[in-house]
Amino acid sequence: MNIFTETGLNNDLLRAIDKLGFEKPTPIQEKIIPNILNSNDDIIGLAQTGTGKTAGFGLPLIQKINIDNRAVQSLILCPTRELCMQITADLKDFAHFSKGLSVIAVYGGANISPQIQSLKKGAHIVVGTPGRTLDLIRRGILKINNISTLILDEADEMLNMGFKEDLDSILESTPRGKQSLLFSATMPAGVRRIAETYMNNPVEISAGKKNTGAENISHHYYVVRASNRYLALKRIADINPGIYGIVFCRTRNETKDIAEKLIQDGYNADALHGELSQSQRDYVMQRFRNKSLQLLIATDVAARGIDVSDLSHIINYNLPDDPEVYLHRSGRTGRAGKSGICISITHSREGRKVRELEKITGKQFQKKMIPGGREICEKRLFNLIDRMEKTEVDEEKIESFMPSIYKKLEWLNREELIKHFVSLEFNRFLDYYRNAPDLNVNQENESVSKKGRGNNTKYTTIYINLGSKSGMNPSRLIALLNEAMRKRDIPIGKIDVQRNFSFFEISSDYDQKLIQAFDNVIYEDRPVIVEIKKGGLNKTKGNKKTSSPRRKKGNYKPKSKAGKRR
Ligand code: ADP
Ligand code: MG
Repeated sequence: MNIFTETGLNNDLLRAIDKLGFEKPTPIQEKIIPNILNSNDDIIGLAQTGTGKTAGFGLPLIQKINIDNRAVQSLILCPTRELCMQITADLKDFAHFSKGLSVIAVYGGANISPQIQSLKKGAHIVVGTPGRTLDLIRRGILKINNISTLILDEADEMLNMGFKEDLDSILESTPRGKQSLLFSATMPAGVRRIAETYMNNPVEISAGKKNTGAENISHHYYVVRASNRYLALKRIADINPGIYGIVFCRTRNETKDIAEKLIQDGYNADALHGELSQSQRDYVMQRFRNKSLQLLIATDVAARGIDVSDLSHIINYNLPDDPEVYLHRSGRTGRAGKSGICISITHSREGRKVRELEKITGKQFQKKMIPGGREICEKRLFNLIDRMEKTEVDEEKIESFMPSIYKKLEWLNREELIKHFVSLEFNRFLDYYRNAPDLNVNQENESVSKKGRGNNTKYTTIYINLGSKSGMNPSRLIALLNEAMRKRDIPIGKIDVQRNFSFFEISSDYDQKLIQAFDNVIYEDRPVIVEIKKGGLNKTKGNKKTSSPRRKKGNYKPKSKAGKRR
């Protein structure tokens, strides 16, 4: 089934779907719509954000509503005001041709009186945040003891945001015979517990891989010193003139701090965090939606429920501790079939975290270099020139001004003229990036510059049975060494990663310790083998025969003179 007409939805809904331009159901919709339409079973729907869960439950829900009965028949709970409004708007779109159906949103941070007024008029579906919903239930305004469907949307986030008690109180006052639908991107213990306590033998429906990153998202990371994070962020923004994205920070203060700096430095950026009043939040969101802001600096909680579908970038100003958080963040780009980039600014000890994320997302993370001043200037200049070239010239309107302008610029030839125009726009950039330092922490270079360069460190060449086939590259190899040896500044020389194995040079002072450190190390289910290679690195190039020094085990001299540095 890959068309909506086969889901069992009625004509009013099919017309609405057509009007919205949805061509075919998403995988979760395909599974869940017939299930909700044809049964009263409780359902747990697991799918990452952006997979169309709202229509998945919203469409069949509307079909099951008895319009003639003005009592509340369905309660939808979700974590934030934004999401609440979003779901309500979506449901209204779906019900566009379903005459007489009413949906009401109730959420905190807004005057309660109008919400009470509309509830008194009667509604078929109520969409609410837990706090406000409970308040209205306690006031006796919202009656949920007769609902036939209860929906928990983004259940994991509701728990993350501390709504556990409110949820318990609400769920306890719902009737037994109802159908419960729970949606979540992840299934942590708290959500399991809710399902076990309040649902009857729920059917679990998931689409795609539950916790993995979406297909069309590329993951990039940069390695910088912690003190250079902000400069790195600026360069990332500068090299992407059309950037439109969210920068995630850990704390409110960090969010404010970075937004303030960016604004001062002339970027179209602003912060979204919990300290803002509702009207301030709305104002920031409005500017972000209409793209007056290119960068929204936000905490995870504040960014919940933001549904902006064409973000080009997600930037992790810090890597989150919880991989689930990374998935949530990255899932905000690459939506609706578009491609997106999720960038992480990391420091040199986070190689292991990156590897863990690679496993969870099933994607390879690309290590990128922070662009240098020259590269950025080139890119921006080209962008400027490109825009100038494409600018439409309205001959008629400017005609009358031109003679005096030509006259004034008479003394400049073509080349000089172009230089003046470019400088006018560009001096700020050129000044800023003149003598800009390299921000990349290249672990190789660092260890070389600290220890190796210019002195006569002796190196031993080592064979290791991991190559590019096992995902090795120089920085991963160094991370692996650091991890095994529990030491960071061991001088490492040349590294030669081949397909099935690699060679690298290590300061001869450490070669025995290295061999010991790798005794019993397992990497991706394989025992790691490291051995001292005689004869140095260069001789191994392209010579596959030397690839099995293992056979000669035990015959090596501990040191090799071959690894002399250039
Ligand atoms: P989720 O709740 O799973 O995170 P949403 O329900 O918010 O995802 O849907 C994400 C986006 O996909 C929305 O902009 C929605 O309009 C769009 N969408 C939903 N279903 C379809 C479909 N069948 N075809 C095309 N777009 C869809
Ligand atoms: Mg959703």
